[in-house]
Amino acid sequence: FGGVIKEPPMHIVHVAVEMAPIAKVGGLGDVVTSLSRAIQDLGHNVNIILPKYDCLNLSNVKDFQFHRSYAWGGTEIKVWFGKVEGLSVYYLEPQNGLFWVGCIYGCRNDGERFGFFCHAALEFLLQSGFHPDILHCHDWSSAPVAWLYKDHYMHYGLSKARVVFTIHNLEFGAQLIGKAMAYSDKANTFLADLVDAVGFDLLTFWSSSLLNMKSSFSIVLRLNNFTLSALEKLVSQTYSKEVSGNPIIAPHLHKFHGILNGIDPDIWDPYNDKFIPISYTSDNVVEGKRAAKETLQQWLGLKRSDLPLVGIITRLTVQKGIHLIKHAILRTLERNGQVLSLSLSVSIKDKEGLIHLRKCFISVVLLGSAPDPRIQNDFVNLANNLHSSHGDRVRLCLTYDEPLSHLIYAGADFIVVPSIFEPCGLTQLTAMRYGSIPVVRKTGGLCDTVFDVDHDKERAEAQSLEPNGFSFEGADSAGVDYALNRAISAWYDSRDWFNALCKRVMEQDWSWNRPSLDYLELYYAARK
Ligand code: ADP
Repeated sequence: FGGVIKEPPMHIVHVAVEMAPIAKVGGLGDVVTSLSRAIQDLGHNVNIILPKYDCLNLSNVKDFQFHRSYAWGGTEIKVWFGKVEGLSVYYLEPQNGLFWVGCIYGCRNDGERFGFFCHAALEFLLQSGFHPDILHCHDWSSAPVAWLYKDHYMHYGLSKARVVFTIHNLEFGAQLIGKAMAYSDKANTFLADLVDAVGFDLLTFWSSSLLNMKSSFSIVLRLNNFTLSALEKLVSQTYSKEVSGNPIIAPHLHKFHGILNGIDPDIWDPYNDKFIPISYTSDNVVEGKRAAKETLQQWLGLKRSDLPLVGIITRLTVQKGIHLIKHAILRTLERNGQVLSLSLSVSIKDKEGLIHLRKCFISVVLLGSAPDPRIQNDFVNLANNLHSSHGDRVRLCLTYDEPLSHLIYAGADFIVVPSIFEPCGLTQLTAMRYGSIPVVRKTGGLCDTVFDVDHDKERAEAQSLEPNGFSFEGADSAGVDYALNRAISAWYDSRDWFNALCKRVMEQDWSWNRPSLDYLELYYAARK
């Protein structure tokens, strides 16, 4: 990357609808903040444009002040300015109230709200005389920036910019993403960046939308190797005839690349984290995690016992493997007697090294919220049942709670991520930063970042890493059992080995150090 770094600094403007920690729903918010910080640290000028939601968490904004206002779209738009994690952020507040609805997503007119925002963001750049080198938009919610720019603003004086489009999750707004891509037929410089591996079903959508493009286009899709091979396989299996006969697809397959997400090592830092009781590094990980576990137990009213603690931090959606999450919580559900038991029969070695099957107890903390009220209700019922039957060992917190998430990452022994598909996944990376061992379903980015201690030594070595967790295949409870059993037996049976594993995962680098250079390379490539 030496060549890339020597090039002159760039001005990058992100148009985004989420940003951690002030307006975060999921990983998109984390990426906007942490990627921007990493790129800024490399000497570039980065700005973020965000809607000014009435539910913004302003306590995390420094020097918040009125910046200017302008008229557009039949209303006045007030622009505010304030720093978040050292980044300069402009907040657009249309006086028509589109963002005064108490939430980020979840309105019937989300498409209209964010479409308006994208347009207003370009208008703001134009009216303020900004000339960014890169306009970086994200997912369906800011995809319209791509075509609005090419249709209008490029001709009005913002002509210098190139558009980089990151698809974080194809599940959302596939049609809009398709439209952003389709638009790039005409725009010759549109750069689509598919950051992460996506699930197979999504690739079906993806490849069919490629095939539907009739005219020539210039899109660089960025996928990781895993997805690339999946795509090639899919394309060759399902669409072999079309692809070989299609002059559009074949020449562009070589442009598929991928960039994994990273986590921000300052935001997620057990040595400097105001939400956990004592600072720790890999040198005192056992002590640090013990203290965090005790605080977590106390905070949530769990019994202060030395049991393995399983943590789950997630949006409760089908993507995240709800049925497997439930299984991981319940472990055994004897329907007749309605007995819920949070225990595992795991094989344990005694002092003589003989193996016994023993019932081992676990404690579980889930932090999750469901956008779908039916799923939320379902979990509320489950929480009521579990809290009355096993209140001292299980807690389901059905809300969004950033501070609590920090304490769980630190206090849990394991973080379970049983996603059905996962473009990249940040929870397993954050877990490792806090010395918690990931137990994951082997899919997408989870597969690319978690290497099973029993099965993935070679795969890890190929990445110059040591194994760092437990994983399972399949999408049924037997898979969860298989991974969790091994994890829990290691905790009970080989504590020294387990503690060394915690230390080891903490020392692995899952920050933006490497991915930010990949992004820079992408930005420069977009300008060529
Ligand atoms: P996705 O973007 O699909 O939700 P990621 O793993 O990429 O999944 O990112 C999820 C992010 O959201 C992580 O930073 C995780 O800690 C956070 N998160 C998810 N659910 C909650 C919650 N209920 N409370 C606090 N943070 C949450």
